[in-house]
Amino acid sequence: MFCPECGSTDKEMVGDICIDCFLKEFQMIEIPKNIEIQICSHCNSKFEEGKWIDEFIPEEEIIYRALERNIKIADEVSNEIINLEIDQIKGTIANCFVEVTGEVHGVQIEETHDSQVKIKKTVCPTCSKVLSGYYETVIQFRADNREIKSEEYTKADEIVERTLIKQSNSDKLAYCPQIAKLKEGYDYYIGSFKSGKKVAEALKEEFGGIIKESPRLISEDKSTGKGLYRIWISVRIPEFEIGDFIRYENKIMQVTSISKNSFVGMDISTQKKHNIPMKNMEDIELVKKAEDIETTTIISKSPQFIQILDPIDYSAVDIDMKEEFADYNIGEEVNLIRIDGNIYLLN
Ligand SMILES: [Zn+2]
Ligand SMILES: [Zn+2]
Repeated sequence: MFCPECGSTDKEMVGDICIDCFLKEFQMIEIPKNIEIQICSHCNSKFEEGKWIDEFIPEEEIIYRALERNIKIADEVSNEIINLEIDQIKGTIANCFVEVTGEVHGVQIEETHDSQVKIKKTVCPTCSKVLSGYYETVIQFRADNREIKSEEYTKADEIVERTLIKQSNSDKLAYCPQIAKLKEGYDYYIGSFKSGKKVAEALKEEFGGIIKESPRLISEDKSTGKGLYRIWISVRIPEFEIGDFIRYENKIMQVTSISKNSFVGMDISTQKKHNIPMKNMEDIELVKKAEDIETTTIISKSPQFIQILDPIDYSAVDIDMKEEFADYNIGEEVNLIRIDGNIYLLN
């Protein structure tokens, strides 16, 4: 066959021209001279194939992956071996080589390309939310019928922080951009609803109480017609604390423990313990605080009565003898609580 380009007649033909003329113009691969990759300068996420990926990848690996993604291999090539090399990295620019060996129409060939990979530092959408103070949830930390004590705030702050640290492994919006310190309680602003919910549950776990969620429509996405909601979560902790006296179902009880979904009250007349669901919090009346406990002395004892000195007017008061008072001795100090004019001995 005759090659119209070089005039030779004894060479293998590729289409209309000989193989040598074909290979002169042929390139096994195509790779852009300049490749840009985006990395979030805050969280180190990379933008790859239309997505932000936040797994940890070393910078060199990112460059190699960018080169790989941008290589186009011609169909005629077989048995290709592509070797990528970073010649040097200067600031945000990596000068790279791509060496290819492969077979084209039975001929083994080799070629080298240069490419420059530029790392563009930017801010990913999640970080830009964080930077703008974006939040999806507000946790309203409140107490029922009373003010929150400073040690409770300290504890709550710790719980919020601890929960967010734990959540941040899986949620980049697990952060608190703002705490509004209001007279009625603190408002913790939380980046994501998911983490906000965890924070509310952790607060409830510590203090007990009732959680209520109320979504508020913030704006509407015009393109989808979907509403954008921000969710307020109120965590209302009980008015009573451990050691306080409450009235529940006509019984006077001293609260002995508080947990997430229930609390224990000990009937001060029968010494019996009752487990009360936290959801009944509204039916509970606080009658005396633990600080109201008084102390007095036993002045006499009989099988029917135990006689004590009223610490206010020093009168002698007879109290029905009970099994649990049997071991008390005359002259011993005991605790009492005064409720509705009655004196209850505590043990
Ligand atoms: Zn030719
Ligand atoms: Zn980021």
